[in-house]
Amino acid sequence: TAPNPNYSRVMLKISGEALMGDQGFGLHPPTVERVARQVQELHEMGVEVCMVIGGGNIFRGLQGSAQGMERTTADYMGMLATVMNALAVQSALEALQVNTRVISAIPMDQVCEPYIRRRAVRHLEKKRVCIFAAGTGNPFFTTDTAATLRANEMKCQAIFKGTQVDGIYDSDPKTNPDAVRYQTVSYDEVLTKNLKVMDASAIALARDNKLPIVVFSLTAPGGLAGVLSGQGKFTMVK
Ligand code: UDP
Repeated sequence: TAPNPNYSRVMLKISGEALMGDQGFGLHPPTVERVARQVQELHEMGVEVCMVIGGGNIFRGLQGSAQGMERTTADYMGMLATVMNALAVQSALEALQVNTRVISAIPMDQVCEPYIRRRAVRHLEKKRVCIFAAGTGNPFFTTDTAATLRANEMKCQAIFKGTQVDGIYDSDPKTNPDAVRYQTVSYDEVLTKNLKVMDASAIALARDNKLPIVVFSLTAPGGLAGVLSGQGKFTMVK
């Protein structure tokens, strides 16, 4: 495949739910494989790929705390869920002959690598897909913030946020047939209009570092590779 002219290093953020298919919970192997194929395509174009995967298909801290669990404990459970998802995606990518490293914010040496920034950069230079797991390693954060943090640290040119919808709309396209998709939208507009893209701390962190966020659909026909070359539908927050 031809090299991508727009981006040489990107962060891909997907929610845990993007891996569960129609099951409503957990991991759906064919769906995981579909995600892996999209990453493989970028990899074959020579794009250096970082990934952060959420954990919502397995456990969310807020859910746990709503059921009476101590919040920080519940958040650690959420972070562990992201490690499981990262391992599943690693396995799917390596089945496609794509070299990967799972890098955890919480050291668990028998399972994956600990996060050492310079080492992660080296992996990217060697064209290994880096899957950053365990979020930021801190409770009270989300994997959106983790994706933004790691994207800044790795000097990614943009975050690609894969969702169920092909961009950001001025109202919910599922309930309002006249909803209009933004081509581009500013960070401040996302914050003031409370557009559901990423949580506010992630948006602010991206804004302060001028890191564009591209919202696209994981099921778009041209896929992520298409979006990277500017085709298809998406919204850019910048
Ligand atoms: N989490 C956390 N700190 C982080 C990232 C994640 O405590 O830096 C916990 C939090 O409890 C969260 C869970 O991990 O609910 C799963 O992550 P998230 O909800 O962001 O996953 P997604 O919605 O993207 O699937």
